[in-house]
Amino acid sequence: MTVLTVDQIVSYHAHIYFKDAAQRDTAALLRDQIAARFRVQLGRWREETVGPHERPMYQVAFATDLFAEFVPWLMLNRDDLAVLVHPNTGAPRRDHLVHALWLGEMLPIVRPEQLPDTADTAGDAVIPNTNPTLQP
Ligand code: ZN
Repeated sequence: MTVLTVDQIVSYHAHIYFKDAAQRDTAALLRDQIAARFRVQLGRWREETVGPHERPMYQVAFATDLFAEFVPWLMLNRDDLAVLVHPNTGAPRRDHLVHALWLGEMLPIVRPEQLPDTADTAGDAVIPNTNPTLQP
């Protein structure tokens, strides 16, 4: 067994999935609440499925020092949405399939070949694009 250390984690992603009109509304409200409360990098809204899971979603990139505050907040506020939280360590396939945690429903992987074994982590630095005005 290779023991990994947490200092290999450059940042985290939360993928927020939605499956129908009601969940889409919930996901939109959640997105607004996240933007109002956390300094994160909100990714594009994806109506089409982009994999590796068969459901539309958007991504939230966040710095490691936000994990202890943001992930419990997601636990309390995700409603019925499936959320994948994964670290970015330069190993996209393992980060999504092995190192990840799910809140709620665990979705099956559909295109694992999209995920490379290794990747440059330079692009995983978080550039916040929110201006929080509310307390978490
Ligand atoms: Zn991701």
